[in-house]
Amino acid sequence: MNTSLPTAYEAEFSGRTALVTGGASGIGLALSRRLAAGGATVVVADHDERSAHKAADELRATGARAAAVVLDVTDPASVEAGVRFAVDSFGALHLAVNNAGIGGPAQPTGSYGIEDWNRVVATNLSGVFYSMRYEIPAILASGGGAVVNMSSILGTNGFANSPAYAAAKHGVVGLTKTAALEYAARNVRINAVGPGFIDTPLLRDTDGPARDHLVSLHPAGRLGSSEEVAELTAFLLSDRASFIHGSYHLVDGGYSAS
Ligand code: NDP
Repeated sequence: MNTSLPTAYEAEFSGRTALVTGGASGIGLALSRRLAAGGATVVVADHDERSAHKAADELRATGARAAAVVLDVTDPASVEAGVRFAVDSFGALHLAVNNAGIGGPAQPTGSYGIEDWNRVVATNLSGVFYSMRYEIPAILASGGGAVVNMSSILGTNGFANSPAYAAAKHGVVGLTKTAALEYAARNVRINAVGPGFIDTPLLRDTDGPARDHLVSLHPAGRLGSSEEVAELTAFLLSDRASFIHGSYHLVDGGYSAS
C-alpha cells in the first residue's frame, strides 16, 4: 500500500505561519513538509540543530518560506524565544503543532527510574504546556488560528512498561480539552491527535519480535506512516475543521477498536 498520501488542498495554508516542535524528524518532519506544500510558512523547531536546519533548507528548496529554530520544549525560556523568533521573522503565528516527544525506557511502574519519569513527563507533557503558554498569546495577537497537540493511542489506552509515556500522553488530552474550552470563543481551535505506532526514528530501537508485537496490535496489519499522521493533523489545522474544538482524534490502524 502506498502510504505517501498525495498533497491535496494546495495553498490552503497560504498566508499562515506554522511552528512545529520536533519538526526535524519523523511525524514532525512529514507535517512540516505537508504544511509547506499547502502554502504555510513553516518554522521547524527542534533541539537537534543540524536536523532542524536541514529540514528548513529542504523546505526552502521546494520554494516554501521556512526557517529553523533551536528550541528545547522542556525549557520555558527556550520555548518563549522560539515563539518570539517565529513572530519576529514572519510577523505572526497562526498555527502550532506541539509534537516533540520521547519514548523513555521500558520498565514497570514499580521500578521505573525517577529521572526517567521526570524527563519523559517534562518533554511529553510539560513541553506541550510550555509551548501553548507562549503560542496562544502569539496566535491571539495574530487574529486567531489552530493548535494540534501530539498525544498517542496511549492517551487513552494503558501500555505495560510505559508508565511515564502513557501518563504524559493522557495528560496531553486533558490539557488540550481544557485549553480548547478557554479559547474556543476567541478563534483559536485546539485539538489533539492520537497516533497508533508509527514507523519513525522513535522506534529505532524496536526490532525483531518487539516490532512484530507492535504490528500485531494494529488490525491494519502494519505500523502507520508519518504522512498518515501529518494528513490528519493538517486537516485539524485547516479551515476545513472549523467546528472542531477540544477533540482527540485517533489515527491508529484500528488499534483502539478492539
Ligand atoms: P522522532 O523521534 O522521529 O521525532 C521527534 C523529534 O522531537 C526529534 O527531532 C527529537 O529530537 C525532537 N525532540 C525530542 N525532545 C525534544 C525537546 N526536548 N525539545 C525539542 N525537540 C525535541 O519521533 P516521532 O516522529 O515518532 O514522534 C513525534 C511525536 O509523535 C512524539 O510526541 C511522539 O510521542 C508521538 N507519537 C509517536 C508514535 C510513534 O509510534 N512513532 C506513536 C504515537 C505518538 P531527537 O531525535 O534529537 O531526540
